[in-house]
Amino acid sequence: MQNLWFDPTEMLIGGVWKAPAGTLPVIDPSTGAEVAQIAAGTAADIDAAVIAARAALDGDWGRMTALERGRILTRLGQMVLERIDDLAAIEAADVGKPLTQARNDAIALARYCEFYGGAADKVHGQTIPYLDGYTVYTLREPHGVTGHIVPWNYPMQIIGRSVGAALAMGNAAVLKPAEEACLTALAFARLAADAGLPPGALNVVPGLGAQAGAALTAHPGVQHVSFTGSVATGRLVQAAAAQNVVPVTLELGGKSPQVVFADADLDAALPFLVNAGIQNAGQTCSASSRILVERPLYDALVAGMSAAYGRLHVGPAVADLQVGPLISARQKEIVTGFIDAGRDLPVLATGTLADDLPTGGHYVAPHLLACDDPGHKLAQDEIFGPVQVIIPFDTEDQAVQIANGTAYGLVAAIWSRDGGRQARMAKRLHAGQVFINNYGAGGGVELPFGGTGLSGHGREKGFEALYGFSSLKTVAQYHG
Ligand code: NDP
Repeated sequence: MQNLWFDPTEMLIGGVWKAPAGTLPVIDPSTGAEVAQIAAGTAADIDAAVIAARAALDGDWGRMTALERGRILTRLGQMVLERIDDLAAIEAADVGKPLTQARNDAIALARYCEFYGGAADKVHGQTIPYLDGYTVYTLREPHGVTGHIVPWNYPMQIIGRSVGAALAMGNAAVLKPAEEACLTALAFARLAADAGLPPGALNVVPGLGAQAGAALTAHPGVQHVSFTGSVATGRLVQAAAAQNVVPVTLELGGKSPQVVFADADLDAALPFLVNAGIQNAGQTCSASSRILVERPLYDALVAGMSAAYGRLHVGPAVADLQVGPLISARQKEIVTGFIDAGRDLPVLATGTLADDLPTGGHYVAPHLLACDDPGHKLAQDEIFGPVQVIIPFDTEDQAVQIANGTAYGLVAAIWSRDGGRQARMAKRLHAGQVFINNYGAGGGVELPFGGTGLSGHGREKGFEALYGFSSLKTVAQYHG
């Protein structure tokens, strides 16, 4: 790989770039070719990183004012902006994102740094009226060492939202990126050091989840764990953190519905309905894989979405088409398994695979399916690929029942011109975020984000993340 400003085989521990005992291959999902090697971090490397993070808290980093932390993050955001095209090229090769999507992720990373840089010195405690002779106030303090387990689908965005917020609050972070997506984490860490982040404030240990990841979540020196990924791994992470009785933020994906009523502006809705299903080849925690439509609009919606699917093309990241490859052969197997399980559902439309695709790439054509049964596997399970089902409904109550009828609750959307219905539905839908006449695919940097049910708990993004990455202390002073 060309033009890297870091050595991808090294780990960052306590401000020192270290060679690992072993390495893992980096595979380009567009071609299947090995493009680099990364460290296979061990439990001992995680231990060293946690010790280094604690030392940073006891040293320069821990003494820094919120204003100074904010300035470093803001500077880092600028440096990310200056490197957008390089970061996009690295991400495209590492995770197969079409270049435009990879670029958008880099822009979001910069924006997180700017947002949390600006917010660092604006988190205040409260004064609380109490008994005569007392002054009572609260302090927001960092947890200490925070562990960050990041998945492969949006590495830059998820690093921005979790590490950015943790550093803004004055925590020292240990980051274990996904084995399939480590390069932009290392690139970011190198920029962070150049932006003036003191040694040990951010440590990056790539490696396998079952080794480095498990060691981090179980480490007794870690005071908070932030995890984004699958439900199965989320359960392991929560169980490990429970042994140390430390707080955990879990963001575990979903089965997010968009509910389209007959009075909706269909032309406005169509791009959101389709994009929320195929963005990042559907490998998005907030992907909208269920479209619920009121029956009178069914035919028009199917016609509109089918036409849009007809314009979708799938190809290598550098071709920058609407849809890139899936992350891995394993993910392709999972997604094609779902498509097979949906053989009883009518296929309404598919996207088109580009000619001459590299044989080693992991390509799946987007599938749009009709589904009358809200209990069908494809209407219930997270697919994490470019597959959407359209489910008809007849009444508002039925729409609520279907929308809330999965184990997840991450994001939902309501498409209607009726203000009363918008407000009623927003209250009734089980989701951490509800969009009305738009769909944010995870929303903006400023908007608190997280789920209910199997989608997880805790909130990241916005100011809410700063509360999550801090601990509240109440001080009661008696002075007579
Ligand atoms: P995982 O949940 O296993 O991976 C997410 C992160 O957790 C990675 O960094 C992984 O490391 C790490 N990890 C794995 N095992 C452990 C462990 N025992 N302790 C601590 N950390 C661990 O997801 P997969 O990559 O296996 O993807 C499988 C499915 O998960 C997808 O099909 C999708 O449905 C869902 N998923 C959801 C995401 C979301 O955004 N909500 C993101 C990614 C996946 P490593 O990869 O290096 O092993």
